[in-house]
Amino acid sequence: MIRYDVKCSGGHRFEVALPSMFSENPLCQCGAETARIPSRVNTAGAASPGPSRDDMPMTWRGTNNGDRELIRSWHKKMVQREKLEEKYPELAGDRRPVLAHEGAFASAPVRAGDAIAGDLAKETFGKPPVDEAKKS
Ligand SMILES: [Zn+2]
Repeated sequence: MIRYDVKCSGGHRFEVALPSMFSENPLCQCGAETARIPSRVNTAGAASPGPSRDDMPMTWRGTNNGDRELIRSWHKKMVQREKLEEKYPELAGDRRPVLAHEGAFASAPVRAGDAIAGDLAKETFGKPPVDEAKKS
């Protein structure tokens, strides 16, 4: 789902979630046609997603020879990151190699073009993405 700000000819502004950029704009509750308007770009107070999995130290030396405080702080950051990725799966990046290694696709191999976002989220977090969960 993609969120858009829309405005009707009567001047009402509201936000809609559409399945794709090619979806038709919904009618306003006043019955008028709507048009998409550019979202406000918010730079002040923008939330930082924090460090990603790729920023995590990958070597013993990277952990400062197993420094407990450093490892504890990275663990805390990655737990927060995981919660964020659970809410916004697009931040998780391509997890297919990891999931394939863990055997998630052993019974149903992935082919190019497969729509697997829902399956990925389910395999990664044990439940479908937030938007899909709301629908059902
Ligand atoms: Zn309206």
